[in-house]
Order: sequence, then structure tokens, then C-alpha cells
Amino acid sequence: MSNSEIKYRQAKTGKLMIEILPDRCDFCGCCVGVCPEDAIELKEAEIFIIDLRCTNCAKCVWSCPIEVIKFNKEGVVVK
Ligand code: SF4
Ligand code: SF4
Repeated sequence: MSNSEIKYRQAKTGKLMIEILPDRCDFCGCCVGVCPEDAIELKEAEIFIIDLRCTNCAKCVWSCPIEVIKFNKEGVVVK
């Protein structure tokens, strides 16, 4: 995966980032439905977070049934 593809799937506010691990996502849409900011887009086999809308509320993180969305703090993926 290229760096540009990774950025495409991250939302960054301050030092916190939400990151989707796209090779594991099964595109079920659960995270899209819970996002209060309408910040997640799912198009066929592509999913990404719109940085300017995301408030890092983490509802998407807890909604994902297979733990594909992570918080990423200063480059370290945490849950
Ligand atoms: S952290 Fe909150 S605002 Fe950001 S994409 Fe997830 S559900 Fe939406
Ligand atoms: S909830 Fe998880 S598996 Fe489902 S579309 Fe979102 S990131 Fe992918």
C-alpha cells in the first residue's frame, strides 16, 4: 500500500487519528451508519474518512464488528 492510500483512509485531529485497515475491512457499512458527522464514505470496495468532518468521537471504532478501525496516536495504533 502506498503512503497516499494510507492517508486517504485516515482522519487526523491534533495527535489522534482514526485509521481504517482497508485490507481487513469487509465493507459491511456499520461504521457509516453510526457516524454522527457523516464523515465516512463507502463506495463499492473503497472506504475512507473525511478529515474535515471527523471529530474523533470514536463511535465508528466501537461499531466495527471485526475491529478494523483503530485510534492511531503518534504513529502507534491503540484501542
Ligand atoms: S470518529 Fe466519529 S466523527 Fe470520526 S469518522 Fe468515526 S464516528 Fe465519524
Ligand atoms: S464497520 Fe468495520 S468492517 Fe464494516 S465497513 Fe466499517 S471498517 Fe469496514
